[in-house]
Amino acid sequence: MFTSQINAVAVCRTPYKQKFGIPRQPGLVDVKGYVELVPELNNLDAIRGIEQYSHLWLLFCFHENLAQGWKTTVRPPRLGGNEKLGVFATRSTFRPNGIGQSVVKLHGVVQRKGKVCLEISGMDLLDGTPIIDIKPYIPFSDAILNAKGGIAHDAPELINVSFAQTAQIQLASLTQNDKYPQLQSLISAVLAQDPRPAYKKAKLDPKIYQVALYDLDIFWQVIDQEIVVIELKPTTL
Ligand code: SAM
Repeated sequence: MFTSQINAVAVCRTPYKQKFGIPRQPGLVDVKGYVELVPELNNLDAIRGIEQYSHLWLLFCFHENLAQGWKTTVRPPRLGGNEKLGVFATRSTFRPNGIGQSVVKLHGVVQRKGKVCLEISGMDLLDGTPIIDIKPYIPFSDAILNAKGGIAHDAPELINVSFAQTAQIQLASLTQNDKYPQLQSLISAVLAQDPRPAYKKAKLDPKIYQVALYDLDIFWQVIDQEIVVIELKPTTL
C-alpha cells in the first residue's frame, strides 16, 4: 500500500476563525487572504513567475477534521442530510487523506511580517489551514465549459442580509480604521450563503446564530426569511 509523508509548504491566513460560516466553495465570497510560505521556502525562488497567472489551485489539508476520520458514504448538506453518496462523489471535508482543493484569485506577492506571502481572494479555507501544494490555474485545461456538476451544479441560493440598529452603530465604529478590511461586505456575503444546515431552512427558526470573522463574533437571526445581523462582539473563541 503506497504511503508518503507530506509536509505543508505554506499556511493560509483568512478571516474565517471557525468552520461554521465559511463558504462551501471558493469564489462565493470575495474576501482577501494570504498564503504564507513556510520558513524553509520563505524566499522568492519557489514562486518566481507566479504573478503571470490570475488564479491558483491550492491543495490543502482539512486539518480540523482529520481527528474525526472519514466514512465511505456521506450525507451531503445539499441533499438535506437525508441521502447518502460515496465520499468520492462529493466535496466532503471528511476524506481518506483529508485533502481539499480550491481555486483562488491571485492578487500578487507581498511581504507580511518578514514572510513571503501570496495575496489571494475568494478562498473557502479556515484560518491556519496547511497548504500542501500550490499550482497555477491553467484555463485551457482546467476550465471545462458545460461540464456536469451533479448535486453541486449551481451556486447556493442567496438570502437577504440586513443590519439591526445596534449592529450598524458597532459596524460604523469598527470600520473607522483598516483593522477589519471589507467587514460589512464580508459579513453580508458570508451570511447571504445562509450557513445553517438545510433542515433548519424549511421551518421557523428563532435560534440566534454566531459566526466568527477576524476576531469578532457576529450574532444573527432569521426573521421573515431574511438574515438580520443583531450585534458584533469581540470573539470568545
Ligand atoms: N473547495 C474545497 C474542495 O472542494 O475540496 C473545499 C470545499 S469544502 C465543502 C469547504 C468547507 O471546508 C468550508 O465551508 C469549511 O467548513 C471547511 N473547511 C475549510 N478549511 C478547513 C480546515 N482547515 N479543516 C476542516 N474543514 C475546513
